[in-house]
Amino acid sequence: MKVLVINSGSSSIKYQLFEMPRSEVIARGLLEKIGEEISPFRQKSGRGEVEIKTRVPDHEAGLNLIIRSITDPETGVVASRNEIAAVGHRVVHGGEEFTGSVLITPRVMAKIRKYADLAPLHNPPNLMGIRAARKFLPGAVQTASFDTAFHTTIPDKAALYAIPHHFYHRYRIKRYGFHGTSHRYVARRLAEILKRDKTELNLITCHLGNGCSITAIEQGRSVDTSMGLTPLEGLVMGTRSGDLDPAIIFYLADKGYNPKEINNILNKQSGLLGLSGQSNDMRNLVALREGGDPRAALAIDIFCYRLRKYLGAYLAVLGRTDAIIFTGGIGENNPLIRTLTLQGLEGLGIRLDEKRNRLTRAVEGEISAPGAPIRVYIIPTNEELRIAGDAYEIASRRPGNAIGPAASKKRRRK
Ligand code: ADP
Repeated sequence: MKVLVINSGSSSIKYQLFEMPRSEVIARGLLEKIGEEISPFRQKSGRGEVEIKTRVPDHEAGLNLIIRSITDPETGVVASRNEIAAVGHRVVHGGEEFTGSVLITPRVMAKIRKYADLAPLHNPPNLMGIRAARKFLPGAVQTASFDTAFHTTIPDKAALYAIPHHFYHRYRIKRYGFHGTSHRYVARRLAEILKRDKTELNLITCHLGNGCSITAIEQGRSVDTSMGLTPLEGLVMGTRSGDLDPAIIFYLADKGYNPKEINNILNKQSGLLGLSGQSNDMRNLVALREGGDPRAALAIDIFCYRLRKYLGAYLAVLGRTDAIIFTGGIGENNPLIRTLTLQGLEGLGIRLDEKRNRLTRAVEGEISAPGAPIRVYIIPTNEELRIAGDAYEIASRRPGNAIGPAASKKRRRK
């Protein structure tokens, strides 16, 4: 079954076309700068690389271009759009309602629109992608996978903020958490690698990319995570501050900054960029630190210290931890960050094998020392594959689908 996974952002659409259940990527691509003068588009597949620079006014035109590229007689990978049986959409906010991936219906779309109140930058473009896909691929099963879904198991004691309770009832202010598809993917992958059932494992997963979050997973269920009502809370990120004393906001307001400016400062000008004054990219900061730049070194120290503090908290939350997983661009590729975060934690059962830590990049592997009580792993994240897997499962369960559960079982037995 061909499954198209779509990640529709405010001015971009990322996509991957999978052959499921083989989990094979047959094409992937990215359209950027939608709505600007020129929108660069790239697609890679077994039939080569396509690069187009054209004007794409909106998401609908964007998805049309993508589907034409996938089905192009010369460079495309499928003969007709009818071959695409399912489309899995990444949706950022599913509120408390969506605890897993779902079939998209008009009711689901209305809920996604409702939760745009909590994710104004993300849910509206996610919806645009859904509308366009329904228009151009009307025969395909459309599914939504929510960043928040994995965290709906977080108990109230970890999810509620200590503010008057009626704010939760009136406005649903609570910790929702994000990056759920990534935390779920790496946790599930480690269970496969260790040949253990996910319900036997307690894990701490660190997703460190431009956005960063850490999750405590008890017997397969998320029980706490560092991002909150929005993706601003928690760890230090590329341009986001993460945790701070909320009184700083009022202090800045007193100094004349308006709410929009403060929001922009905390989301776009803080984190690694704000601290270093130079870059939000960890690669640049590591190079600057090596060259003796004190602000880059400080930014990295603060990044790792905050991560270590959360790690300590989640070790206490879980009581027993089997493994720590690093993922995301920084988590997968940056040995220095892993060392600075975990060094000196032997007393807590964490010991890195420094040689393995230095050598393991962007591939699955263990980096803890043999015999260490808490194992440490790198697992490259693959949110798209998780979304494709969910879309495949939902499409397979649909009555009248040739690839029903019975048929897939038969195939597996071969
Ligand atoms: P996003 O959250 O946007 O998906 P990524 O997961 O790609 O972002 O992470 C981006 C971060 O990963 C950047 O800070 C970048 O410096 C870091 N990164 C990516 N590749 C490497 C690498 N080879 N070595 C060190 N850091 C890397």
